Amino acid sequence: MSICQTPAPCFEFRPVPWESDDDGLGSPHYETREAAERALDGYRGDCASEPESAAAFDAVEIAEALGCWIAVCDHPGGCNAELADDETGAAHFDAPEDVIACMAVNGWTHLAPGWAFCPAHPPEDADGDAAQSGAELEAAGLLAPLPVMIP
Ligand SMILES: [Zn+2]
Ligand SMILES: [Zn+2]
Repeated sequence: MSICQTPAPCFEFRPVPWESDDDGLGSPHYETREAAERALDGYRGDCASEPESAAAFDAVEIAEALGCWIAVCDHPGGCNAELADDETGAAHFDAPEDVIACMAVNGWTHLAPGWAFCPAHPPEDADGDAAQSGAELEAAGLLAPLPVMIP
């Protein structure tokens, strides 16, 4: 699965109803239009007593979002965990660079060109090879001793 684009459209709120979007959270994304409508109903109920927020949510329409970028764990055991930001819950991104940036702060490993590994499954090849010292390689017969050069 790796770093890829969602195959099916998902659903988001437009315009983004939050007053301040300084942190760039945007809208949450939902798998189905029904799920988005249910969530929107919930938000409308929550802020019914706050006229400003209520007006913002009244203006929201549910719109399709196509081709969001996501990351899914490539562990060969079939983990398939999906990346989601610990703090914001964001899991869908506009560009692969944004996915990679989110992976970095959430303990995921990115191996070029587009492999993704969740924090529970760091890729063995990436760490293992680098950690092996020359002496270990020599002991394993993989590295001949260097000839001593006498000037
Ligand atoms: Zn999405
Ligand atoms: Zn995993």
